[in-house]
Amino acid sequence: MKPALQAVLDVIEADRDHVVALTQDLVRIPSVNPKFQSEQGLHREADVQDRIEEELRPLGFDLDRWDALENRPNVTADLPGSEDKSMILCGHIDVVPVGDSAAWSRDPFGGQLEDGRVWGRGAVDMKGGVAACISAARAIRKAGIELDGRLSIHSVVDEEAGGFGAIDLVERGGTKLARHAIIAEPTWGHVIPAEGGLSWVRVTIFGKQAHAGWRFNALWPQHDSLGRLEPGVNAIELANRFLNALRDFEASRCRRTNHPLLPAGLATINPGTIMGGAGMGPDGNPAVMSNAAMISDVVTMVLDYKFMPQENFGDVQREFEEFIAHFAAMDPWMRENPPKIEWDLWGLHFPPMDTPVDHPLAQTVLTRATELQLAKPEIKGFEAVTDAAHYAGKGVVPVIYGPAGDGFHGDNECVEVGSLIETTKVIAASVLDMCGVRS
Ligand SMILES: [Zn+2]
Repeated sequence: MKPALQAVLDVIEADRDHVVALTQDLVRIPSVNPKFQSEQGLHREADVQDRIEEELRPLGFDLDRWDALENRPNVTADLPGSEDKSMILCGHIDVVPVGDSAAWSRDPFGGQLEDGRVWGRGAVDMKGGVAACISAARAIRKAGIELDGRLSIHSVVDEEAGGFGAIDLVERGGTKLARHAIIAEPTWGHVIPAEGGLSWVRVTIFGKQAHAGWRFNALWPQHDSLGRLEPGVNAIELANRFLNALRDFEASRCRRTNHPLLPAGLATINPGTIMGGAGMGPDGNPAVMSNAAMISDVVTMVLDYKFMPQENFGDVQREFEEFIAHFAAMDPWMRENPPKIEWDLWGLHFPPMDTPVDHPLAQTVLTRATELQLAKPEIKGFEAVTDAAHYAGKGVVPVIYGPAGDGFHGDNECVEVGSLIETTKVIAASVLDMCGVRS
């Protein structure tokens, strides 16, 4: 084992420029997720995948490529080997928009190498991590090492908008999956085995449509000139009561749930969007939202519903549905006209990842990072979600581990060159450990 590792580290040292130049190349091909911004020339995910294939083909990988979304290809590359020691190195090649370009002091797609950093959109999130995975695999091949387990490299699209590239990939199953995976998102050299789950839920509250002129009857019940009493039921007011109750429910969930690697109170339920109006439209939202003279009978809210790594999604769903049922039972109208709940709205669902800290993969990456990095690595949880979720949901054991940098999703994004090289070494050493070397 020792000589193999040394041979691989020697190749990485001798070719220190490789991972840096590859990161620069990838940054120079704009691959902004088209769901966020539509501008010709910015959506070159396919060209990034061409560059990645060009790098992997001469190394003897079996390549596969298909459109996960329209004109947005995933690429996978495999070195055959045993399944029980199989391992995936994964990264996404889409990036978020540049944002305010005036705030950038360098060309966001220039891939400039300056001050020991590569600069540009996607440098740290996460073309640097993708380059480190490829460079690690390259060093193993150049050192002439035969792995025992199958090694796969996954280059996926659309992580930034729900992970539909990775979802499409893991749905293919079979040899697209493996025992273990490293997702090379930026972690500043720390090892991340846990992140919570996330689902988008739409709650629809129903009222009774009426003319707003008769709203006085809702405040001061009395008969109008025709003897009518009931004016309507305002769904917007019911939604207001619901949101207050939801806030209490959310707080109680946050108090009750905990994970040793994550901050307290992470099981949040964020009301992200709300629409109120009259009549149900074909898209499940109110049909009329421009006439305030109506008593609203439809309100839709989309909640960003987080749950803890150790929680079972079915239990999470049941608990929320019971809360809604109890809330509705306390009101005579809602008892008869209960709110509607739609889970996984628009397919947005991230299973939780809860790889045990003492799992061999987490321990291997931690040990190799301790040996090969200047900065001491820690084991941490992640507050948001990544593609690791989609692998974990299919039974792959993942950890997130990747380079250090700055400005991700902001301006002046960069990745540190020293960290890119360390990441390459740690990933390569972890692959040797987990896949094993054929003697
Ligand atoms: Zn990312």
